[in-house]
Amino acid sequence: MIQETFPLTIAGEEIPDERSLLTQVENGLLMDSIDSVRYIILHCSATRCNREYPVEQLLRDHKARGFRTIGYHFYIRRDGSINQHRRLLEVGAHCRPFNRCSIGVCYEGGLDADGHPADTRTPEQTEQLILLFLKLRKLFPHARLVGHRDLPGVTPKACPCLDTRAVFGYLENEK
Ligand SMILES: [Zn+2]
Repeated sequence: MIQETFPLTIAGEEIPDERSLLTQVENGLLMDSIDSVRYIILHCSATRCNREYPVEQLLRDHKARGFRTIGYHFYIRRDGSINQHRRLLEVGAHCRPFNRCSIGVCYEGGLDADGHPADTRTPEQTEQLILLFLKLRKLFPHARLVGHRDLPGVTPKACPCLDTRAVFGYLENEK
């Protein structure tokens, strides 16, 4: 069941009220307002489904790309454990030029054992994605659920290796 009111807890972050979302983040850029969030963007880590890609490695890889920390707001491991890396209204680093108006959610996987793009979600990941999307939609009711590759003007790629609208679009109608 999804809570109807504040305080809402999303992954590790407890949100007492809407205003608290706008609390300044140390070293981080903040979006202008709750209405800034127009997209909830699904990514995959583009790693093989039979290989571990732990948070520590993701952090190293993103730092190597010059990011201050992990670029996604949320990262969901194959066992369904969910890690939050950015405050909700903190500008992420996952989908230029949409970082100032989106929340980035990444699931571990996206490549089959041979390294080809594939929908490798585990049931645990799907369950956590649904819960997370529903909570985010409560906070950001105007945000659309989309996949990285669905956005115009982004570098063509397979990410998140599934049809986000077909799989999760119905959640936009859930109350
Ligand atoms: Zn992506």
